[in-house]
Amino acid sequence: MSSHGSIGLDDRLNRYIFANHPAEHPVLAELRKVTGRMPNSQIQVAPEQGHLLAFLVRLLGAKNALEIGTFTGYSALAVALALPRDGHLVACDINEAWTSIGRRHWEKAGVAGKIELRLGPALETLKKLKREGWANGFDFAFIDAAKSEYDEYYELALKLVRKGGLIAFDNMLWGGAVANPKVKDGETQALRALSAKISGDPRAEAVLLPVGDGMMLARRVR
Ligand code: CA
Repeated sequence: MSSHGSIGLDDRLNRYIFANHPAEHPVLAELRKVTGRMPNSQIQVAPEQGHLLAFLVRLLGAKNALEIGTFTGYSALAVALALPRDGHLVACDINEAWTSIGRRHWEKAGVAGKIELRLGPALETLKKLKREGWANGFDFAFIDAAKSEYDEYYELALKLVRKGGLIAFDNMLWGGAVANPKVKDGETQALRALSAKISGDPRAEAVLLPVGDGMMLARRVR
């Protein structure tokens, strides 16, 4: 269950939504197919989520972006394609094998120069970025790594993303589990607690969208 896909729209509606998006970039389409053959393919974001991330990056006029949890690089590619020529994406992941698939496709799409991959535990990387002077340095962040660490990513992202910048979280509906009171595992509880925290947080203005597996968008307001 949980880490993927959509939260219950039927196939016909999903096809309709996909059909009413602009055409997927050919390298994104290729990467989605390559990843779809992998055992963990359900981790990959849905194409309409990639499109939404790119849309938001352009809407913000973002130049510097941060990604926490890159997997095989689909969302990073979507974001990098939307960034300006001198844009920069810091992509964090722990898995060399997964991200090497991404890197091949970033190169093929001509955006590898915009993406700086940082391999290692995300919390350490985020703290290091802060030490390196990146506080308030990002316009946009996409969070999609360990669900139990989302709250810590959020706190660090609030320092790294500028006021007026955006923090997007994937899997906030967790296959519908968050709304099922019988589900009480740690990840589900962590996502529930974070949704409640952000929606009442004076530091951010948020909206929870039923796209893919649920995306929460939080704009830093102070
Ligand atoms: Ca995800």
